[in-house]
Amino acid sequence: MNTNRKTKVVIAGGGTAGWMAAAGLSRLIDNIDVVLVESDEIPTIGVGEATIPTLVYFHKLMKIDEAEFLRATQATFKLGINFEGWRNVDEDYFHAFGHTGKDCWAAGFQHFWRRGIQLGVASDFGDYCLERVTAKYNKFAHLPKNGLNYAYHIDAGLYAKYLRKISESHGCERVEGKIDEVCLNSESGFVEALILESGKKIEGDLFLDCTGQRALLIEGALKTGFQDWDSWLKNDRAIAVQTKSVGHPVPYTRSIAHPWGWQWRIPLQHRVGNGIVFSSQYVSEDEARNTLLSNIDGEPITDARLIKFRTGTRTKHWNKNCIAIGLSSGFLEPLESTSIHLIQESVLKLMRLFPHGQVRDCDVDEFNNQIADEIKRIKDFIILHYFVTNRSDSKYWQDCQAFEPPEELAHRIKLFKETGRVFLVNDELFQDSWMQVMIGQGLVPETYHPIVDNMSEQDLANFLNTIKMAERNKVSAMPEHFQYIQHYCSAEEVSSVTEPACASK
Ligand SMILES: Cc1cc2nc3c(=O)[nH]c(=O)nc-3n(C[C@H](O)[C@H](O)[C@H](O)COP(=O)(O)OP(=O)(O)OC[C@H]3O[C@@H](n4cnc5c(N)ncnc54)[C@H](O)[C@@H]3O)c2cc1C
Repeated sequence: MNTNRKTKVVIAGGGTAGWMAAAGLSRLIDNIDVVLVESDEIPTIGVGEATIPTLVYFHKLMKIDEAEFLRATQATFKLGINFEGWRNVDEDYFHAFGHTGKDCWAAGFQHFWRRGIQLGVASDFGDYCLERVTAKYNKFAHLPKNGLNYAYHIDAGLYAKYLRKISESHGCERVEGKIDEVCLNSESGFVEALILESGKKIEGDLFLDCTGQRALLIEGALKTGFQDWDSWLKNDRAIAVQTKSVGHPVPYTRSIAHPWGWQWRIPLQHRVGNGIVFSSQYVSEDEARNTLLSNIDGEPITDARLIKFRTGTRTKHWNKNCIAIGLSSGFLEPLESTSIHLIQESVLKLMRLFPHGQVRDCDVDEFNNQIADEIKRIKDFIILHYFVTNRSDSKYWQDCQAFEPPEELAHRIKLFKETGRVFLVNDELFQDSWMQVMIGQGLVPETYHPIVDNMSEQDLANFLNTIKMAERNKVSAMPEHFQYIQHYCSAEEVSSVTEPACASK
């Protein structure tokens, strides 16, 4: 690459990954040309509608008008995930996006809660988390100083369209056509160009592989390699169906466990996204489809569509001058809605390590190490849901607990079980979540930090009760989630995607 001219970034693929990358780069990086190639003949994956709070910050960085984005994507707010039947067949718990209770310098809130449970003065762990209580009462509001953590449920197709408008308004060129060939430099092995079926040649300096499961560049051309994680995460199929809404959307995703997998429900303004994730070793596609179709509320508006996937990660996400973003880089099942977050992280890391002038090995290694660390922890967090559970009612659930967990996860579980302690690695994505899910899945610490005993029993009861009441009071002042949407971002009057209101670069 030459520092004196603009860097040309070619994005192959126009799903959520391609358009998030295009929007981020064209909006936020100077002195580049961005070209995105996508084929109208090859559909996008068509799922990926639940997000986590980091997306709110990605949008802020791009100066996206939130209400406009919500209207354009028929979005609703998401405060967490209701896990139904995960700990035991008939028990639910909630993984909320917020922080639970109040910590002290020596010990997290869970130690105070644990002692409270022992004394009979504490209630459900979630009662001390504002986001959980807000979800329980189907409420929502933007609070001052980002006082309520939230994410979104979005229509994936509309989101890509919305981002396309942003990208094009910041100079990204879209080329329609099917990529037929990926040309590599015979000496360096770098990608030089994409050749389309039409014969058109698109040359570039940097190539982003956003071709989804096809992974045309990173694997098809560069043969990068893939690390399978299917010994830990057994699910390899999903069936997705969209249904009509039958009630007001709730501000959370539902995750409903089955004897051989689990089912999602994602409420949007205009419809509900449903799907079932399962392992083909334990159930037939027909049975999974029937289970899904008999566990939906509204009338289906699409066919129930099978999606096969492979769990694992590309051995390098950045190889030569090609960066795999989205499904081309690997996949972890959507249990904690982490894929769109990983797209965003890849885009942001690429911006921070952007190779103006030349691709340096040190930048590539840094990118790969950071991404590998992040994915490894997300993988562990997802495994936790299967490994720690009281369910043993099927071979699937028995097998989920019969393997050795990854070393770091095994340590976290042991530490929490024996001492109630949780320590986070710097900048870790999931924080309070570790506690919420460990407790939710049925792992209550055997003991608590002795500093809690500095409080009298009465003081502890008052402390717990004050937090609980404060959260309830805040929630009682909030409007219903649906009312809030109607007032703030109703998509009812939007018939097509509106022009995004972005400030210039
Ligand atoms: C069952 C399931 C549920 C999921 N749920 C969630 C969720 O709730 N939350 C979440 O964060 N993530 C979720 N994901 C992941 C999420 O769907 C993806 O990360 C996201 O949609 C990005 O996909 P993509 O853009 O990489 O690929 P795709 O959407 O498949 O897009 C690929 C693009 O490449 C183009 N393309 C391919 N080949 C060619 C070619 N030869 N020539 C030209 N163009 C080509 C296609 O036209 C398309 O534009 C889920 C995934 C699955 C499988």
